[in-house]
Amino acid sequence: MIHEITGIRKVRMLYLQLLYRCNFSCAHCFHGERLKHADAFTAQQACNLLLLMRSQHDTEAVTLLGGEPFVYKDLARVVRYAKHTLGLTVEICSNGYRIGPRLRDIAPCVDLLRISLEGIRNTNDLIRRAGSYTAALETLALARSLGVQTGATLTVNRYNIGEVVDLAETLQSLGVLQLKLHQLRPVGNAALHPEMLVTSSSAYSKLRDQLGNTALGIEIILDEDLSEDGAPACAVPGERDEIDRIESDPRGALTMSCKAVGKDSHAFWYDKSSDRIVHRPSANDELKLAIPDVVYGHA
Ligand code: SF4
Repeated sequence: MIHEITGIRKVRMLYLQLLYRCNFSCAHCFHGERLKHADAFTAQQACNLLLLMRSQHDTEAVTLLGGEPFVYKDLARVVRYAKHTLGLTVEICSNGYRIGPRLRDIAPCVDLLRISLEGIRNTNDLIRRAGSYTAALETLALARSLGVQTGATLTVNRYNIGEVVDLAETLQSLGVLQLKLHQLRPVGNAALHPEMLVTSSSAYSKLRDQLGNTALGIEIILDEDLSEDGAPACAVPGERDEIDRIESDPRGALTMSCKAVGKDSHAFWYDKSSDRIVHRPSANDELKLAIPDVVYGHA
């Protein structure tokens, strides 16, 4: 269906939000009120969607997220299906809070564990949850001991923008391969905390200078909106025959552009009961609005 409507043939990665529920309620979380919603994939539905994406869109990789994927009781079943049955590259994006036993169980099937952090110590804990910084670092150390490669992600805001380099150095010392930096977008909980937004684009230039002037062994990937001039022009998803990612929320609503996530501008849905992707056009779907994707670059 996606190919017929848009011409998009290949989708490299599926971001699969297994559930909305999370053991955190972060001040910047784009899910906002939906963190309380019960919508979730069953394990069978999740496996069905993975198979569909593999067979119809040549999908090579999956990132499992939520909510918090380690809260999802059938995580191990979905991970093993993705890895052993479909041969996908498996990434999990987690807050890393007390996930040790479950991580040990699935470690051989996980290609990358990405832990979300929002700064150093108290900066992180005030945005996320008390004790979450220490727990995240312990999880990164555990993953390393289990032979699981790790990455991290941080959403740049007014409180943590001055700590990015220090955090990168800390992560580097724990063997973390990559830190991915996102721009904070005012959706979900972040819409209730406008004080978190970085209002001066020169602050982004300062951050980029700091990153450029520090010899870091960790790869830094950053959303090109984190620059004074914003991101360079990028073709909207419907103008390409191959896209890097598509994201499914726990209801099955699909989003092609990362900039459209959290905006409810879905053009396509995965219909769980019929196991197919359906087109539900509307005046404000991401195709009609021609929402461009996020462009990522290296620091
Ligand atoms: S940002 Fe992640 S860890 Fe925080 S509430 Fe949202 S889903 Fe949970």
